[in-house]
Amino acid sequence: MIEYLINPCSSVRIDVKKEQTITVIDLEGGQVADFFAVSAENSGEFLSAGVTIDVNESLRLGVGSVIYTNLYRPMFEVVYDDVGEHDLIHPCCRTEMYDFFYKNGVGHPNCLDNINEALNIRRDEITAVNLFMYTKISPSGKISVEEPKSKAGDKIVLRALMDVTLGVAACSVSESKCNSGRCTAIMVKVE
Ligand SMILES: [Zn+2]
Repeated sequence: MIEYLINPCSSVRIDVKKEQTITVIDLEGGQVADFFAVSAENSGEFLSAGVTIDVNESLRLGVGSVIYTNLYRPMFEVVYDDVGEHDLIHPCCRTEMYDFFYKNGVGHPNCLDNINEALNIRRDEITAVNLFMYTKISPSGKISVEEPKSKAGDKIVLRALMDVTLGVAACSVSESKCNSGRCTAIMVKVE
């Protein structure tokens, strides 16, 4: 088993083989982990939150849910989950998002740059699976980002269904409820 500590507002790259399990732990509670992956065999195949919504016919993830690639192939299965609230709809935070909402994008750490750096790629937009992020969706379609329900030590466990390279970021937003107003660390264990 290998442990990876993701410091606040940073990211890691992790190579994972098919059938390995990936445990993502919210060490202090209330912290989002942006979870993205690219196929080890084909850089044109990557995690797609949109396809995951499409195939699962759900905006939510839970035990038994499968996370799909842009090519509609299964990439991960959720095998354990303490939290039950994860976000599939928000793109990774980025310089322009910080500028738009908070006028502070310059020099602000952000998940888009962090994941691109971890994976040594340059995607213009990434929509990760935002583990532990609690986006409340009302029947009217109105959404609001609330504090994560995750408590210290809460985790989600995923089984890899193909060889992948992960780019995982501890989200950098301290300006809203997204990470409970402060950025903390995330732990990932692969076994
Ligand atoms: Zn972020």
